[in-house]
Amino acid sequence: MNVVNQTAHQAEHVGRPNTLLQINHLSVDYHAENGTVHALTDVSLSLERGRILGLAGESGSGKSTLGYAVTRLLKPPAAIVAGEALYTPRAARLTGELAQPVDVLRLTPQQLRALRWTELAIVFQSAMNALNPVLNVGAQLTDVLRAHRPDMTRQQRQARALELLRMVGIAPDRLRSFPHELCGGMRQRAIIAIALALAPDLIIMDEPTTALDVVVQREILMEVMALRAELAFSVVFITHDLSLLLELADTVAIMYAGRVVELATRGELKRNPRHPYSYGMLNSFPTIQGERRHMTGIPGSPPDLRSVAPGCAFAARCPLAFAACRTETPPLRPATGPGDSQLVACHLYDPRHRAAAPTAAEFAARYEAAYRQERTPGRTPGRMERSAR
Ligand code: SF4
Repeated sequence: MNVVNQTAHQAEHVGRPNTLLQINHLSVDYHAENGTVHALTDVSLSLERGRILGLAGESGSGKSTLGYAVTRLLKPPAAIVAGEALYTPRAARLTGELAQPVDVLRLTPQQLRALRWTELAIVFQSAMNALNPVLNVGAQLTDVLRAHRPDMTRQQRQARALELLRMVGIAPDRLRSFPHELCGGMRQRAIIAIALALAPDLIIMDEPTTALDVVVQREILMEVMALRAELAFSVVFITHDLSLLLELADTVAIMYAGRVVELATRGELKRNPRHPYSYGMLNSFPTIQGERRHMTGIPGSPPDLRSVAPGCAFAARCPLAFAACRTETPPLRPATGPGDSQLVACHLYDPRHRAAAPTAAEFAARYEAAYRQERTPGRTPGRMERSAR
């Protein structure tokens, strides 16, 4: 899995036989009455078969827009203004033979219908809204099979529906239950079962467990991971909860103001976040193990995406900003030079400003020192800050 903005890097990744999804230079706008919102700008990402790509960022960072754009679920006033999303389907799913990549953004309605559910499925954030309230779970499961597998008999569809319920940990006698008769965790499991109905190669999960309590959330995530290990599908996992991705994603893309600002393996990100925004996100939640530490968080708010100021979109909130940050937009580049798989969009890693690039320890010290200076003088620390000292 990798992310690049440079064409040369993209060409290299498109050619990889294991690449399932390659997004190149994707930009999405929302045309509102009071201005155009640039929700996604020049995003390039790739996902290999059987892997999990995590997308993290604050609300409005563009992560859900990315998922909806790739599945062609965006509706006006949203518009894809540039880019492509190359998906490599299996020509013969039984033999594993690969077909040529297709650009999902340019498929005809018929081609898109053939791709959806069979190759690519989505799990939505709110199960109650995603399920049809007047159909029981069994009807909603067999509906997908009836639409996409006309060769299946009624008995085969029923058998598959029961098998899917068992796979996601729902008792078979719930087949005739309506969504309002299920608890939140079961509804989310039912959505996951529908997504798995045709054994797709890619499942996009948009905040699949956000509305659930942490115990149910953990149970469902463990089941998803077990199913992925068994069925070998790939996942794009969208969440604002970076701590989740540090447990389950292979690679994490941090998004800010519609751009990818850092891409790293979960280990790299955990050990050594390079972008000041990633650092702030990682220091916005307490750990339950290890030393007590000061919580820094991220001061300020995301920019208005109708009129982002020139330069780095994070500059107004970044305690490490310097002159170049306010005039030039930093491209996504290898953090320490060619060959480094950790990519970051920050001038601190530009060879021209390399002298300003801090080590991990210096980075933490500079970030926290700068942030402390920015605090309101005389402010009384909150309870969490006091207990963390
Ligand atoms: Fe901060 Fe400048 Fe890096 Fe943006 S480019 S994150 S403002 S140091």
